[in-house]
Amino acid sequence: MAGQPLSIDSYHRPVLDTPGQVNRVLLHSCCAPCAGEVMLAIRASGIEQTVYFYNPNIHPVEEYELRKDENKRFCDKLKLPFIDADYDKDNWFDRVKGLENEPERGKRCTACFDMRFERTALYASEHDFPVISSTLGISRWKNMEQINDSGVRAASRYPDITYWTFNWRKQGGSQRMIELAKQEAFYQQEYCGCVYSLRDTNRHRLANGRPRVKRLVNFYGGCSADAEIIASS
Ligand code: SF4
Repeated sequence: MAGQPLSIDSYHRPVLDTPGQVNRVLLHSCCAPCAGEVMLAIRASGIEQTVYFYNPNIHPVEEYELRKDENKRFCDKLKLPFIDADYDKDNWFDRVKGLENEPERGKRCTACFDMRFERTALYASEHDFPVISSTLGISRWKNMEQINDSGVRAASRYPDITYWTFNWRKQGGSQRMIELAKQEAFYQQEYCGCVYSLRDTNRHRLANGRPRVKRLVNFYGGCSADAEIIASS
């Protein structure tokens, strides 16, 4: 009704089919703003899901904890299982060694996606999840093909696991993601996640006369929030 705030359940969402029409998905999640809409879209189709938070790329640890807590808060609200996986950041730094100066969407990001999806696929194989997917692809800052390639590569290590390449941005997904972030007042991160993305975002901002990234302070729906800035980790 006009003038009434939308409930998170009042959106019309498409009916989704997983690969093989299975009813059990392990969803790799990068952060609450990206995950919120994906989680609701999966739930709206009656598909059972477990959220897997594995993001050792996020720097520094306070930023990691806040992004994780925001995601867990929304999982608790929806009564969905939330797996708090390792923060093995030393392994992440080893994995991207030599790629520190790659641009976003370059080779460092491929290595970063590969690492996160390999661990997701391993967990899926150990806990009988036939399908995995990721919330990373809903962000318009990401290269969907690059994410899907990494996901398919990770799943192909196991004969019984499939990576679900659904495009979460389509059929209104991008718009609902922004609306939901504001409605739930999710923490609004201003850089992708790693120390190199923080460095490059600050360089870009300073070159364009903008202030440095503010961490741990902005939440969607606040007066200083800019709904255009949404970056998955
Ligand atoms: S920019 Fe983002 S996706 Fe790329 S390496 Fe850094 S955290 Fe990972």
